[in-house]
Amino acid sequence: MTEPLLQVIDLEKRFPVRQGFFGQHRSWLIAVDRVSFTIARGETLGLVGESGCGKSTLGLTILRLHAPTGGRVLLAGHDLATVGGGELRQLRRRMQMIFQDPLAALDPRLTVEQIIREPLDIHRIGSPAERSETVRSLARTVRLPPDALQRFPGEFSGGQQQRIGIARALALQPDLLVCDEPVSSLDVSVQAQILNLLRDLQERLGLAYLFISHDIAVTAFMSRRIGVMYLGRLVEIGPARAIVTTPCHPYTRALLAAVPEPDPTRRPPRRAVIGDPPSPINRPSGCPFHPRCPIARPLCAEQEPALRPMGPDHLAACHFA
Ligand code: SF4
Repeated sequence: MTEPLLQVIDLEKRFPVRQGFFGQHRSWLIAVDRVSFTIARGETLGLVGESGCGKSTLGLTILRLHAPTGGRVLLAGHDLATVGGGELRQLRRRMQMIFQDPLAALDPRLTVEQIIREPLDIHRIGSPAERSETVRSLARTVRLPPDALQRFPGEFSGGQQQRIGIARALALQPDLLVCDEPVSSLDVSVQAQILNLLRDLQERLGLAYLFISHDIAVTAFMSRRIGVMYLGRLVEIGPARAIVTTPCHPYTRALLAAVPEPDPTRRPPRRAVIGDPPSPINRPSGCPFHPRCPIARPLCAEQEPALRPMGPDHLAACHFA
């Protein structure tokens, strides 16, 4: 069996929170709670869930932009926690991120050429002339206009700013891109262009994506498999088609129920989710979804369900799925 590109094993990220009038009581905000999955080379795993469910923190923790508080991340079999110095830098080069707000992620004082070139300069890749040629090639790859390199990021539209961010992310020839809501700040017509660009790049360069989004329809368009997160936990994971057509977890069904359907006669009735998500500081007992679940029973408040098989390569964490 081929080794996965990325293995995430029981990954956990919790943040200390001071409570009480004098901040004397310390509790924990559990943003990522024992999450495990793999991504193969050239594959897209979509990660979907409501705002605040921990999916962006999970992406940052995989890249070690947050230090994990538990679990392991392996890239091509190398445990990022046990390698050090030069080897860690080499491994981190192979994982890059595309951010939700492209303008906030780009230094407004630098030209587009300097922005794309910066990672090459930092890692001293190639001669100065070779770096300049690489930057021109990357600009063509992401279809920036020919005169873009001498301009500043603030002069571009949101879609073009995201192309600049993608070119910069590609500069170090990564194997994996963590795409954190890469189109949610863009107009719908521009969203399609960026999604198609990402798919083209994947085909040409063999990239793997962790595609993070609150939009399950966009995620299904991009992904071979989809993981569904709720309150820091992975509650369902499986082939994109199975997740969309035969979802097993009530929360996944609720996310799908919220997707607008142009023809209402074609949509089967689904029960909607109740209320807002609970605080990740005061998590409910048992199944974290039970206060909002339309089919919860007494057992749900007592025992946390584990992920269990629902079909080929398809798991869900629900006592009654
Ligand atoms: Fe709902 Fe119970 Fe399943 Fe949780 S375990 S999703 S509360 S039915």
